[in-house]
Amino acid sequence: MKRRRFKRLNILLSCLSVVLILSVFSFSVLADYDDRSPTSGISYYTPSVYNDTWTRALNAARSDWNNPYCGVLVASTTDTTGSTLYVTSSTDSWGGRVITDMSGPSYKFTIMINSYQIYLNATNLSNFIRSVAVHEIGHVLGLADNPNTARASIMKYSRDRNTLYTAQSYDRERVNAIYADYNNYPTVLYKAHVQDYGWQPYFCNGGTAGTEGESKRLEGISIILQNLDGNIEYRSHVQDYGWLPWITGGATSGTIGESRRLEAIGIKLSGQVASQYDIYYRVHVQNFGWLDWAMNGQSAGTVGYSYRMEAIQIVLVQKGGAAPGATTRAFVQA
Ligand SMILES: [Zn+2]
Repeated sequence: MKRRRFKRLNILLSCLSVVLILSVFSFSVLADYDDRSPTSGISYYTPSVYNDTWTRALNAARSDWNNPYCGVLVASTTDTTGSTLYVTSSTDSWGGRVITDMSGPSYKFTIMINSYQIYLNATNLSNFIRSVAVHEIGHVLGLADNPNTARASIMKYSRDRNTLYTAQSYDRERVNAIYADYNNYPTVLYKAHVQDYGWQPYFCNGGTAGTEGESKRLEGISIILQNLDGNIEYRSHVQDYGWLPWITGGATSGTIGESRRLEAIGIKLSGQVASQYDIYYRVHVQNFGWLDWAMNGQSAGTVGYSYRMEAIQIVLVQKGGAAPGATTRAFVQA
């Protein structure tokens, strides 16, 4: 498998996990998050000197990422010369930090968890520890602080660390998209250009691109296949323009900078992949919510209502396999 290219050799991430309540002081050096772990399998050493509460919380944080849906494996190791996670006590305002070191023959990272700030701020100690650790491991897996979404995320500074302490569906979808290529898993990757947000990062294989409950229109979309032979083609129905031509190769369907909403979309496969998979997709539309699933070039969304598409999910299904859900009402025309 190919190695990722890294733009920077060393990055220091200061997570300021509790700093928002404490201080506006910030020494963080934010990373370029194209930097990421060189493989989706990572392991690190943790000293075995902590009490049960800490040990259990730190172990839970590690296994939290080991959902197959994430496509990653986060393991422990007894090798003390590689990556580590340890607990320290500092009166500095950060709750957790990561230092990554790519200068040696293999990628290494060090996660530090600050017990001083955690004891100071936790009302539920084990949840709080876990929330900080899951967040830091999220960085190692390539996630940035404060993603631009209203959905819940372990990467948000604003989360309540006493109650939100696991990787959320948003986080899992993002990690899955980041590592899809590594896992050589047949993947459809898609990203949406959203009102006020611009381009969101890629989501894949059923993840939700766009927003729900924020009344923001999708304006453009780009779709690609990975680890598959063949093409994906798509077209969108745009405010004032109607249906645009079918395009492929990750080009943008829709408009950028024109404040026009996507209203409907069609997606289809061509080439060898079309004999192996069906492509299913459904859209979240203003006033309708999630419509049913469309497939293989059918229209999804609305025409004639002047309603905006707000979110989309796209998934590959083995040829002739069951649809991912209801299919009766994928497209509504006024
Ligand atoms: Zn952080």
